[in-house]
Amino acid sequence: MIMNDVATNYVKKANYIYDSVSEFAQEKAVFSNFRKSVAGNVEIINQFKNISGDICQIIDSGNFDLREFSLKFEKVKEVGDLANQVKNQINTTKRFLTNEHKNEVAEFEKFLANCFNNLTFETINNYKTKLVNAYIRLPKLLRECIAIYQGCISTADYYTIGLKADGTVIAVGKVRERWCIESWENIVAISAGDRYTFGLKANGTVLEAGGYDDIRTNSTKNWTNIVAISAGDHCVFGLKANGTVIAIDLDKFFKYDGNRTNDYGQCNTGSWRDIVSISTSGVHAVGLKTDGTVVAVGRNDAGQCNTKDWKDIVAISAGGRRTFGLRSDGTVVAVGYNEDGKYGTEDWKDIVAISAYTHVVGLKADGTVVTVGNNEYGECDTGGWRDIVAISTHGVYEHTIGLRANGTLVAVGRNYEGRCDIKDWSGIGPLDKEIIKQRKEEERRIKAEEQRRMEEEQARRKEEQRRANERWEAEKQRQAEERRKEEERKKEEELRRIEQSNRWKEQGLCRYCGGKFSGLFSKKCTVCGKAKDY
Ligand SMILES: [Zn+2]
Repeated sequence: MIMNDVATNYVKKANYIYDSVSEFAQEKAVFSNFRKSVAGNVEIINQFKNISGDICQIIDSGNFDLREFSLKFEKVKEVGDLANQVKNQINTTKRFLTNEHKNEVAEFEKFLANCFNNLTFETINNYKTKLVNAYIRLPKLLRECIAIYQGCISTADYYTIGLKADGTVIAVGKVRERWCIESWENIVAISAGDRYTFGLKANGTVLEAGGYDDIRTNSTKNWTNIVAISAGDHCVFGLKANGTVIAIDLDKFFKYDGNRTNDYGQCNTGSWRDIVSISTSGVHAVGLKTDGTVVAVGRNDAGQCNTKDWKDIVAISAGGRRTFGLRSDGTVVAVGYNEDGKYGTEDWKDIVAISAYTHVVGLKADGTVVTVGNNEYGECDTGGWRDIVAISTHGVYEHTIGLRANGTLVAVGRNYEGRCDIKDWSGIGPLDKEIIKQRKEEERRIKAEEQRRMEEEQARRKEEQRRANERWEAEKQRQAEERRKEEERKKEEELRRIEQSNRWKEQGLCRYCGGKFSGLFSKKCTVCGKAKDY
């Protein structure tokens, strides 16, 4: 019997029993509830193989307690609703899943499949407990993933930076060579302010790049145990693992801005505790607390720091003279500058991330992006964006940047200083240990290859030298042989000459040339003129 038949079958039976049950009103009322419960549970019970079987068996037996049976149905409906919600949570989470969280979600998926396949009336309480745990954990897991992705892109008035999955950082726009971003490695999050850009390392320290007027502040040099960073035009904030926040006003490093250091009190975060997330516009800063409330310091001329009443907040963005908060239910609250009496975000729902400055950008759970605000440069034209996992906007020269799940970027709005020229970027995403491992292996392989080639070259040279030596030896031998032969030839010649001379002597001729002698007393050769000396 296929699943659908099982469910339809027991609904039919329930109706039949209802029709033929005794006329007693009380019993009929109880059974009415049961029947309603059955009808309302068809869809859900259909998902649970074993429960359907259980129900059919009980109905077939014709021997059951209606009240108890109704309660069981209620329970199945409750667990079924929960299971379906967990299923939806898993589907949403998978869209934003980082490698780091993959295993945990895979476990939940396995458990859910197990639940649909094996749930019985006996094990239902056990499954319910586990489903509740998943239901509580999954939104947190999603937020962890989103926060990691949000840390992978950052844009400012003059430039855009992106974190690559291998832990390096790339930049486009008004970025000068001396910024030295190229040498960064093991970065897990980045934040761009207009004067400086900061990179959070996996070990909890923070790197600084930039150099407004060639001044390097080294302000974050001694920071440790940092888990998140946020840079604004005038200051930089570091969230420590213990929930406190360090703030440094960058203005004090500039002679013409030094006299207005921390003039809005935006760096007065010393008393903040239990912070899980930070965001700054540069002149005001907000901190999200573990209990879902939000603290704010700094410029409050438009009420942008009036976040005291906020509750159930899971993400924050400080933009311009406004502050936006994302509620756990996916809606958005706002305070601060508000031209038309509306922020435009009132109707937003299913939001999982926000980024705000003069316009506001919202990332939805389905990977699309909504935008509201001034659209002079098309900065709000994000309607066609799909599979987005992070968003970023900053500054008054309006633009919007989006990170796709495949590691590429999209940009709309004003391409000031070329900060939107990100079309060629790829591999943007959370630092991936596997990629770093692969890169290191590749480096090792290249090094080994180089070593091998060097050794080969050495061996080749050695062989060449050996052959040259061999050739030289052979040449030396050949020359020696030649000399030996020459000497032999000379010796033979000498021998022949002596023999000839002896023969001439025997014949009474000149022993030098074989000529005849003449003269009576002193005989001389008639040819060479030498005197006879034998
Ligand atoms: Zn002679």
